[in-house]
Amino acid sequence: MKVPLLLPQFLDRAVKLYRDKTAVIDELKEFTYAEVNERVNQLSRGLMDLGIEKGDRVAYLAPNSSEMYEGFYGVLQLGAVIVPLNTRLIPEDYVYILNHSETKVLFVDHELYSQIEPVKDQLKTVKSIIVHGLEISGNGPIAYEQWLSKYEKDGIGRPEMEEDDLATLLYTSGTTGKPKGVMLTHRSNYLHALSSMHHLRVSDRDILLHVLPMFHVNGWGSPFYYTANGATQVCLRKVQPGDIFRKINDYGVTVMHMAPTVLNSLLQYAEVNGYSKQPQDIRIVIAGSAPPPAFVKRVEEELKWEFIQVYGMTEASPLITTSIIRDTQQHLQPEEKYRLKAKAGYPFIGSDVRVFNEFGEEVKPNSQEIGEIAVRGNGVMEGYWNNQEGTDEVIRGGWYYTGDMAVVDEDGNIEIADRKKDIIISGGENISSIEVEGVLYEHPAVQEVAVISVPHEKWGETPQAIVVIKDGLLTSEEELIAFARSKLAHFKAPTKVIFTDELPKTASGKIQKVHLRKEFWKEKEKFVN
Ligand code: ATP
Ligand code: MG
Repeated sequence: MKVPLLLPQFLDRAVKLYRDKTAVIDELKEFTYAEVNERVNQLSRGLMDLGIEKGDRVAYLAPNSSEMYEGFYGVLQLGAVIVPLNTRLIPEDYVYILNHSETKVLFVDHELYSQIEPVKDQLKTVKSIIVHGLEISGNGPIAYEQWLSKYEKDGIGRPEMEEDDLATLLYTSGTTGKPKGVMLTHRSNYLHALSSMHHLRVSDRDILLHVLPMFHVNGWGSPFYYTANGATQVCLRKVQPGDIFRKINDYGVTVMHMAPTVLNSLLQYAEVNGYSKQPQDIRIVIAGSAPPPAFVKRVEEELKWEFIQVYGMTEASPLITTSIIRDTQQHLQPEEKYRLKAKAGYPFIGSDVRVFNEFGEEVKPNSQEIGEIAVRGNGVMEGYWNNQEGTDEVIRGGWYYTGDMAVVDEDGNIEIADRKKDIIISGGENISSIEVEGVLYEHPAVQEVAVISVPHEKWGETPQAIVVIKDGLLTSEEELIAFARSKLAHFKAPTKVIFTDELPKTASGKIQKVHLRKEFWKEKEKFVN
């Protein structure tokens, strides 16, 4: 008989094998797997009491926390669908997403409730709002712990579920436009979790520090695969370098996933404050977003953490490739390893990833031809929620077209060139903003940089760099342009450099180039969205 692949099975397994092991640590709270399971059952019972049934949507607006973690299982074992909300949006965005997803129950952290309070009357389908960290229920919202404690801790009779049932409805980061609701099933999340635990060698000896927000495609699906293996998960509520290093030492953290911008801030912090590796800590650190080899080298040499690049997107569960160096390549010289790790690498098990040119032909290895990355396989979404037009735009002929451009090297590694929307076309030549940023990052005074396309009378478009300088260091526009020209073909070097204190970022730490471009492209549609 075919047994459906259902996400609650991951917690069931952990409860059987690791009952009394610490499952989650959240500031002063700690719960074992048995305790998490009891709280999950209480949560499911409470939701049933509120009328939640299979297929209903339940949303979370919370930082990484034990409450958010138990939400994944409490909601999913009812066959209901979890809608994790980005904590950095504005109240109007929450109104849009909650109404669009027709959410019935909303859980909110007390520190974020002020984002919901002013707009709660505009929420058309939300029947109950339950607040984490609120002491006592008042006339308005319900206090979570008080509410939870009313319910029995033993297992619930789960409804019949199919592996193709919807499990998570994740709204995209909105880096390039309005967030879209990505529909992922139990099966796609489940198989993604199996591939991830294989590629990242997750085990019960792991102690994960949740740096990436869980609401961002579940912090890369980690509440599933670290649970399945009985690892301990430490929640990080706010990203602060000092606190990250403290937690690494206090808990003996072995693995972290984060945006490269956060990793970059850890490098800066370690440089200024010193960091000495403890014998038991970090075995791997995982980040996305095409880092230059020099950056990978600094992580491995200065922090002594093995760096793994992953590439993916909400629409694909999310991960589809990894740069992990296979055992057979251990003989490589460090420089070659750093170069390989700066590439998106090879497909995950279960995902078929190809690069197609504009004629629909596969790009040949080592040809230097740039094409669009397309993926099909277990992890790919069912489509965008209530948005057939948007779905048809990106899923064509069974392939999901990612909007990301890449070349393929002689070994078949995928090397990301850029997002289609971020490529700069200057005098008919394609310039990868990522490549130019990679070079500027090599300059000792550059802390952070974004390269964007701005209009140019002669060339149509030209690259412009927006740079944040490291504290206490100096440089100039002329120096940075000359530096870029010394390392790049001249047409790729920025023609202008602007200095700023901070770059706009999404909650997961991605630089929002669309906001940077807006003021230069006011008159023209092209880059505004
Ligand atoms: P939206 O789709 O709402 O505009 P978004 O694309 O940033 O936002 P996500 O699904 O969070 O939303 O991010 C996926 C995108 O992030 C990928 O399509 C790609 O452009 C970028 N990305 C992820 N990993 C990498 C990587 N290793 N290298 C380069 N880019 C990456
Ligand atoms: Mg996207």
